[in-house]
Amino acid sequence: EHFNIVPLASEVIDQLENKAERKDLTIRFDQPYNSPIFVHADADRIYRVITNLVSNAIKYTESGEILVGFEVEGQKVQVYVKDTGVGIPPEHLSRIFERFFRVEKSRSKEMGGTGLGLAIVKHILEAHNTKVSVISTVGKGSTFSFKLPIGQGADGLEDGTVDTEEFEELEEEN
Ligand code: ATP
Ligand code: MG
Repeated sequence: EHFNIVPLASEVIDQLENKAERKDLTIRFDQPYNSPIFVHADADRIYRVITNLVSNAIKYTESGEILVGFEVEGQKVQVYVKDTGVGIPPEHLSRIFERFFRVEKSRSKEMGGTGLGLAIVKHILEAHNTKVSVISTVGKGSTFSFKLPIGQGADGLEDGTVDTEEFEELEEEN
């Protein structure tokens, strides 16, 4: 599947803007290229990935700005979601992609959630032969990013091969 990721990300932001505005948060969409960026990926799944990352940015940030943007590097585009939130302690960074893992369970319990969002992100991106990266500083914020191939010719991805049913069932149970 070949689609323009710019309006897709814009749609995610439109969907989540109200949630951000209920806090003291704005979402900025950084579009330096002013042109479409066509990627070879599963649009629904990538929509889900960006939604989960921006939802987390909103959830774990009290005030400031969330930045969603792209960086084109050769035949790849890096998509990033940057927040000015609580950050993640370094000793937990490697675990946040595990199912049901949440930093400080008791505190995050008040905010709701099951700890599946990032496990789904990881799973979807692995199926696209790519991965999610995170840079985070406690008290300063976090940046999550991933790369996708631009245009045609990505290796190893057949449309419809991404199976997140297992996660959807888990989410319903919780
Ligand atoms: P769910 O996404 O299922 O509603 P969740 O947000 O707790 O619940 P994940 O999205 O998998 O679960 O994130 C796992 C944990 O990683 C979170 O509980 C939180 O502690 C930490 N985390 C994720 N994103 C951020 C972020 N942007 N800033 C700070 N901590 C984060
Ligand atoms: Mg989440």
